[in-house]
Amino acid sequence: MADCIFCGIANHEIPSNTAYEDDNIICFHDLEPQAPVHVLVVPKKHIACLDDLKEEDRGLIADIMLKIPEIAADLGLENGYRVVINNGEDAFQTVKHLHFHILGKRKMTWPPG
Ligand code: IMP
Repeated sequence: MADCIFCGIANHEIPSNTAYEDDNIICFHDLEPQAPVHVLVVPKKHIACLDDLKEEDRGLIADIMLKIPEIAADLGLENGYRVVINNGEDAFQTVKHLHFHILGKRKMTWPPG
């Protein structure tokens, strides 16, 4: 989608520090990391948010969920990690292209801010 940063990264029009990539998914390090390890797992297909998921996306989302532990292991997050999806305005979603944050290498607190 035009003017979407994460589509630009997925298309290699915008550079990123890529941690993993396949035909359907790209994972890259966050520009403003909130933990010593902070990457974003992004479907290459433009889906604005969770609310826009369609039945046809079921396989893609399953692939992402199965890939996250593999990426976390590759990043050395053997002691645990947090996966976050910010969905919509109240959740402070700033990029309107679905993405899964993986944060690790520090102790997290709960509840989140
Ligand atoms: P959100 O608030 O859940 O939408 O998260 C968007 C994330 O994207 C934030 O953590 C930003 O730091 C990150 N971000 C925005 N632009 C870029 C970029 O060009 N490269 C890497 N991360 C980015």
